[in-house]
Amino acid sequence: MSNDSRGSSVAPDLFGSEQVITCRDDTTGLRAVIAIDNTTLGPGFGGTRWRPYATPEEAVIEAQRLAAAMTLKHACADLPYGGAKSVILADSPAPLRGEERRAALLAFGEFVARTNGAYIPGVDMGTTPEDMRIIETRGGRAFCDEVDPGPYTARGVYAAMRAGVRHALGRDMAGVRVVVQGTGHVGANLARLAATDGAVLSVADIDADRAQALAEELGATVVDPHEAPYADTDVFAPCAVARVLTTANADRIRARVVAGAANDTLDSPEAGEALRAAGVTVVPDFVANAGGVIQVHAGVVGWDADTLASALERIGERVEEILTEAEHRGVTPDQAARDRAAQRLAAARKEH
Ligand code: NAD
Repeated sequence: MSNDSRGSSVAPDLFGSEQVITCRDDTTGLRAVIAIDNTTLGPGFGGTRWRPYATPEEAVIEAQRLAAAMTLKHACADLPYGGAKSVILADSPAPLRGEERRAALLAFGEFVARTNGAYIPGVDMGTTPEDMRIIETRGGRAFCDEVDPGPYTARGVYAAMRAGVRHALGRDMAGVRVVVQGTGHVGANLARLAATDGAVLSVADIDADRAQALAEELGATVVDPHEAPYADTDVFAPCAVARVLTTANADRIRARVVAGAANDTLDSPEAGEALRAAGVTVVPDFVANAGGVIQVHAGVVGWDADTLASALERIGERVEEILTEAEHRGVTPDQAARDRAAQRLAAARKEH
């Protein structure tokens, strides 16, 4: 997955999460952070990211920010999990291998076990299903799914995109111009789905060969990755990096609908407001990109393919509900979705 970390200039909001655990193991040199944002709906589930950080504060901030996004994602997707995330601070970009990796994961597994089920790790940037199985041996729970979530996330994003297009443009996908930024696990599968329905595709990637290969496969055009957000198009699908839409660039967005997989597409509520004022429908990313966690949950509870497929399609219905409500209330779709999550949390707290 792409790096979408925030810079290290901001101080961590230590009481912004239910619990923040910094982990140090002197035998292996492990340094890690577990952020449990909210357990109102269930145990905090969220991946373990393993990469270098410029400072420890940056690692804490990223863990907390991603954990909070998981709370929103699970609440909006009606999943029985809270939000959490962990990061392991790598000494270098080269991943640890062999015994050293195993020892670090076992040490991390001890810290996960100490949360007594409040934190369930899963695969994220820099970790694998095999890593999760090692973590689990220390007695905590981990989600070790072998399945690549990318195609499931893409199916959910596509349901969200169709709903956004129907709502904003009143049409189906045939002939709709779509620019996909990032042709990795999610973006490539999303482009294929849209192409199947007759959308007119353009693709962009900083890996020019990857973009070219997908363009040839789909008969799509290639656009400059840095110009992709400003393309003359109906739909812009950010599937690469975070915070593509900002207050500084909002007036350059020509797409009528934005629907993609990248987390934190908006850099601020103000960017969302500016786009709303300009008539751009921005589908909330944490609603659109829940397909991956829905697929993990399907594996945990043993859903069949049909049940999983309707849960992924339900993302589209949810988007329609959120867009309609946002319009009705005169707020951004992002705000309407956040309020929806807050209501689910409040209702669950009342039940407890
Ligand atoms: P990926 O790493 O497989 O693909 C990302 C692609 O984006 C790569 O091909 C990379 O070269 C390209 N890229 C990086 N910077 C770019 C830029 N500035 N402009 C254009 N292309 C650029 O990642 P993925 O798994 O496809 O995920 C895509 C995004 O969706 C990420 O932001 C990720 O955090 C988010 N996301 C993914 C999932 C999932 O299930 N994989 C779930 C939720 C959210």
